[in-house]
Amino acid sequence: MKTKSEMQKEMFKFEIEKISKKSKARTGMITTPHGKVKTPAFIPVATFGVIKGGLDFKDYQKTKTQCQITNTFHFIDLDRTKEVEKIGGLHKFFNCNKPIFTDSGGFQVFSLGKGAEFGLGKIGSIFPEQRRREKPSNSLVKRINDRGVHFKSPRDGREIWLTPESSALAQKELGADFIYLFDVCGSPLDGKKTTKEEMELSHEWFKRFLNTKISSNQRIFGIIQGGIYRDLRIKSTEFVNDLDVFGIAIGGALGKKKEDMYKTISWVNEKIDWQKPHHLLGIGDLDVMEKIIKLGIDLFDCALPTRIARHGMALTSKGPIDLKKSILKDKFKPLDRNCDCFVCQNYTQAQINFFFKAKEQIAGRLLTIHNLYFIETLLEKIREKIAENKF
Ligand SMILES: [Zn+2]
Repeated sequence: MKTKSEMQKEMFKFEIEKISKKSKARTGMITTPHGKVKTPAFIPVATFGVIKGGLDFKDYQKTKTQCQITNTFHFIDLDRTKEVEKIGGLHKFFNCNKPIFTDSGGFQVFSLGKGAEFGLGKIGSIFPEQRRREKPSNSLVKRINDRGVHFKSPRDGREIWLTPESSALAQKELGADFIYLFDVCGSPLDGKKTTKEEMELSHEWFKRFLNTKISSNQRIFGIIQGGIYRDLRIKSTEFVNDLDVFGIAIGGALGKKKEDMYKTISWVNEKIDWQKPHHLLGIGDLDVMEKIIKLGIDLFDCALPTRIARHGMALTSKGPIDLKKSILKDKFKPLDRNCDCFVCQNYTQAQINFFFKAKEQIAGRLLTIHNLYFIETLLEKIREKIAENKF
């Protein structure tokens, strides 16, 4: 008979299935009590527990998404983590029967702090719409010290202290399958001295986080720090390898251009534990997807595919199309003839263009369903290619 700890170990597994002979790409399977995730996998962002765009749970089934990531900070800001726990966690609260990830709030240390201040993404230039501001605007991060991070609430301005312990407790209350250690996500503008301090502070916080009790139905991802500095990345990779965690995420700033990010991942790859799933945090737009998979990334999350959908952009096999352009009004054809999603089977470009012109909410919902389905289909093909050694 299996012991309790053996049974608990089996509830969560990462099994590597096929490793490419041509690159570091691999296919695998993550098993959780709420289902399985085939890797490499895209994790859609569900900021407040639901994917933005007005999708209900029936729409989710039309997207083929395998899992989702939710932002702990926003549940703390709304003061709802305890309420979610009383109902039985995010899965019950949102009627979601898929694996759920929650981040720790570490990303908001950047996005509401230096990111907001200078209008930056995690890679200085990766989001062209977020051009760097000349004059810093107001940061909502008031102070970072040994204790944790002092935020000003973006909603009502009240004081929020996030610490390794309070992040762990909030993520326990939300009850996701996978939770993340609380870190200081640095900025692409940080110099080496600041990056080193942020890394050392994060490492201290990781130890405190791991000493805080979470649920036995949860597993943890550690986060590698070190910005764009090779020695720091290697040091942090070795530190995270030694922690008792299920998976390893690559966090922190990733440089000023995509090439910096690829270089950073290759440094991490020198030391990273290859038996664990690797998650590249906050990056997943189409033009980097193949390259990061070839660098051994198993999981990636990004708000971009759903955000651009709400702004009228459809991803297609012939490149993105802007459904807000009225030139499309005569096009009685689907978004993509090669796509067999619910939207492409039932709606034409002309109809969706009309919905955008009329400012009907269904417009963003339809494009969100299509974009997610499009990415999932693309990943299915990539996984097949890896398995056949053709990737
Ligand atoms: Zn489609």
